[in-house]
Amino acid sequence: MRKEQHRGTLPFPLKQYGKTALGAPLLYAPCKQKCTLLAIAGIHGEEPETTFLLSRIFRYFAEPLQNVAFILCANPDGVMLGTRGNSNGVDLNRNFPTANWNPKITLSKASLESKRITELLPGKTPASEVETKSLIKLIRKLQPAEILSIHSPLACVESPMITPLTHFLTEISETPYKKDIGYPTPGSLGTWCGENSIHCVTWELSRLAPEILAQKFAKKVAVYFSKTV
Ligand SMILES: [Zn+2]
Repeated sequence: MRKEQHRGTLPFPLKQYGKTALGAPLLYAPCKQKCTLLAIAGIHGEEPETTFLLSRIFRYFAEPLQNVAFILCANPDGVMLGTRGNSNGVDLNRNFPTANWNPKITLSKASLESKRITELLPGKTPASEVETKSLIKLIRKLQPAEILSIHSPLACVESPMITPLTHFLTEISETPYKKDIGYPTPGSLGTWCGENSIHCVTWELSRLAPEILAQKFAKKVAVYFSKTV
């Protein structure tokens, strides 16, 4: 691990695991040995600070980690368009093939203060979206024991059980642990992971500017990742 982040460019090239609906590459940073942790940001295009933070974490390393792989942005089209969903308007985090996948529109909040009235499309069928399909294929290939899925801005750490990672994240972010996010999320990555014996930790960042998030968390998370085996 470096003392300082490498600024400006990534320290080593990423690998491609697919293409978005608009033709952008889907990229990941593999690890050297068995993947025990896969860190994912930017599955919601309206949460670009998650990509900013994970990229800052990633750039503490000069070479691939032993056991941690990264997806800096799982929804590049959504980030480019500034939309929660992908270019088809589908919320990828409602598009996973789970037992509770639901073809009906689900509702979300446009901001913390809003009512839950924003309509989210789950896709025409489970895993209808190329970004979802590619991500599932990559997860099956890497077979991580744990996935860290970074979101914002609900300020909590949600996962079905407490692990060293959830404990670490609640400590550094000073936000509560939740066993359940408190509203239905049919077809979510977390639910899909549960059904596929992968422990998924959803880190909902606080509503803070990207630079503040990086100052608060990037180095601490990088140190944690450097010790993850
Ligand atoms: Zn989100």
